[in-house]
Amino acid sequence: MKRPYNFSAGPAALPPEVLQHAAAEMLDWHGSGMSVMEMSHRGKEFISIYEQAEADVRELLAVPREFKILFMQGGGIGENAVVPLNLSRGQRADFVVTGSWSRKSAKEAGKYCSTHVAADNTESGVTDIPPASQWQLSSDASYVHLCTNETIDGIEFHELPDLKALGSDAPLVVDISSHMASRSVDWSRVGLAFGGAQKNIGPAGLTLVFVREDLLGHALPICPSAFNYKLIAEADSMYNTPPTWGIYMAGLVFQWLKAQGGIAAIEHRNKTKAELLYSYIDQSSFYVNRIAPACRSRMNVPFLLRDESRNADFLAGAHKAGLLQLKGHKSVGGMRASIYNAMPLDGVQALVDYMRGFEKEQA
Ligand SMILES: *Cc1c(COP(=O)(O)O)cnc(C)c1O
Repeated sequence: MKRPYNFSAGPAALPPEVLQHAAAEMLDWHGSGMSVMEMSHRGKEFISIYEQAEADVRELLAVPREFKILFMQGGGIGENAVVPLNLSRGQRADFVVTGSWSRKSAKEAGKYCSTHVAADNTESGVTDIPPASQWQLSSDASYVHLCTNETIDGIEFHELPDLKALGSDAPLVVDISSHMASRSVDWSRVGLAFGGAQKNIGPAGLTLVFVREDLLGHALPICPSAFNYKLIAEADSMYNTPPTWGIYMAGLVFQWLKAQGGIAAIEHRNKTKAELLYSYIDQSSFYVNRIAPACRSRMNVPFLLRDESRNADFLAGAHKAGLLQLKGHKSVGGMRASIYNAMPLDGVQALVDYMRGFEKEQA
């Protein structure tokens, strides 16, 4: 069966091989007589699935020993509260606002600690990342939050800032929901990274948190136990029932990533895909992407038609051509092509071919 190409921002396309693998094991996982959904999270079968997934993601992303990997629930939006509950110690937290998600994070954290916006790209129209040298970081922040890939705006940090060099001793917290496992991570610059699985890792319902051990154990008294990083870490993510199906599916995706050649190989492919799409948009007089080239997202590519009255026709034609879920987020309008790890180069090429044909029709 030839499946269409799915450009959803999330929940997003998964590799067909992974879906087929899960389908084949649906009723009977490895002769256990059970579906993974039906297993005790404390039984030897599921523990082996969990341990393999943890080991694989640690290997793929080269996560150092001093980081705990937590498999949680609650999503990226949940973490907007869970992070300050665990890390703020009642002090303030700094936020670099680069788009919709970081703005949302700052607002939510304000319920649990005082917040300070160290930089904000709103005035410049959310097209660029404010230079780190201009960030007004606090001297006493408990952490500094960035969203390193703004899924809605299509802005990505291609390099993580060195907070020490900017005069801050605070740990860096990064929301990596929409580019997790799309590229390598410089862990020496990170204190905590979190992300929901449904963009690049697996089905919705699983949230991954990578947290440096020294940041554990400072939760506010009001922090719910089920979201206390220390309790979760001590229980190997089994303080309460973890999202077992999500962990299993993520594990299959990690195996798939290893078979693709690991993160370096997938990062290279992601660069090629993004270059193909952006270079087509840039040479076109019909489509436009307004993000500064140095901080364009390799995962989420928003673009506008110069003639917005053509939007509905563009989407209908795309759907007919087997190109799904290209409608942009309602806050920015236009189109958005999310080209996560599971999107092959052929899918991006098919999109470019369709866009070229549609542009010609308008002439
Ligand atoms: C999707 C997304 C979120 C929200 O995730 P939920 O799982 O819906 O809570 C947060 N941050 C970023 C960057 C996202 O892309």
